[in-house]
Amino acid sequence: MALDLNHIRSLFPVLHQEVYGKPLIYLDNAATTQKPQAVLDALSNYYSKDNSNIHRGAHALADRATAYFEETREAIKIFIGAKESAEIIFTKGTTESINLVAATFGRKFINEGDEIIISTLEHHSNIVPWQMLCEEKGAILKVIPISDSGEIIFEEFEKLLSSKTKMVSVVHASNALGTINPVKEIIQAAHKVGAKVLLDGAQSTSHLDIDVKELDCDFLAFSAHKLYGPTGLGILYGKREILEAMPPFQGGGEMIKEVTFEKTTYNEIPFKFEAGTPNIGDVIAFKAALDFIDSIGKKNIKAHEDELIAYAQEKLSAIKGFIPVGTVKDRVSVISFGIKDMHPFDVGMMLDSKGIAVRTGHHCTQPLMKRLGLEGTVRASFSVYNSKKEIDALAEGVEKIARIKNK
Ligand code: PMP
Repeated sequence: MALDLNHIRSLFPVLHQEVYGKPLIYLDNAATTQKPQAVLDALSNYYSKDNSNIHRGAHALADRATAYFEETREAIKIFIGAKESAEIIFTKGTTESINLVAATFGRKFINEGDEIIISTLEHHSNIVPWQMLCEEKGAILKVIPISDSGEIIFEEFEKLLSSKTKMVSVVHASNALGTINPVKEIIQAAHKVGAKVLLDGAQSTSHLDIDVKELDCDFLAFSAHKLYGPTGLGILYGKREILEAMPPFQGGGEMIKEVTFEKTTYNEIPFKFEAGTPNIGDVIAFKAALDFIDSIGKKNIKAHEDELIAYAQEKLSAIKGFIPVGTVKDRVSVISFGIKDMHPFDVGMMLDSKGIAVRTGHHCTQPLMKRLGLEGTVRASFSVYNSKKEIDALAEGVEKIARIKNK
């Protein structure tokens, strides 16, 4: 089904502006997506009509806010195919979700000599928390190597697995190259040695249909702001029995059952992991983002984005001096590249002057850049509201910039 792009674009007020006198072409969606009017309205409605603290108030506003807040949790449960909404924990972002697991699962279940496996494709937020844990516990971090095209080498992963492996934490889709990892196979192999698996879903949840029951992952971490929702809100999915066995993350209100000066008992999941007043307004507004995605359908979004990627690849690869980075076919809508003899930052600045917003640099994946022998790349990432016309403008811009050094 071809999307009604005019209609979809009309839902996003931010897209209708000029930058340096040129129409904005927003191709930095892997960093964060824009927000539809419904999300902005939901935020504004919450603060103008329902603002109240949740779960403990004995009045109408608190009841309303609590109901809306829990409705979002239920919607996320359906969105990722979880068994129950108690398995959905609200955090600040993917980063905090991963840190939560490293800190709590790690504190209880990872000991000296145990091994944690990540991959070369990881974002810093799926590297540093595990390094911190390894340092604290005397555990060992192992890294799955990748091919030059940007795919993990599965046989090497299998060689790293052993009874010492306690956690495999891998990115579902790479933010730097777009590579979609074979997570189902990774999960099956990891489970055979008794390891748990965390998927960094920051980039995959907006593009791929995800069913955590079907995947059988133990944890899934993602951010609302990459799914047309507000910033400052993350989600951690975890299997009930594992979450129940984990100690709490932070201590404070809401996460307790009973407090005395001698001893505290903890609340049930998910509240055990949600100390303090949560990000109520953003949680409530996130439901409008999920409704927006549902109204179009993930499959239709993916089909549209696949078309854009194929079109961009065709257009850009015809440009003299264009160097693709990461040449995997099965990918989310990210295209990373360089231009011969030009610094990515300069390319990004020149595109910006044409109203085209892309990302340049290491994309918080410094070890990946090192493996590829690069300082950084230029990254264009597409979303449901992008058009082929915008890709034409990108290609035209890149062509002009490349011509400076590639005559
Ligand atoms: N992992 C990946 C693959 C990402 O793309 C990002 C965001 N760039 C993160 C983790 C971190 O997400 P956040 O900054 O929203 O916590």
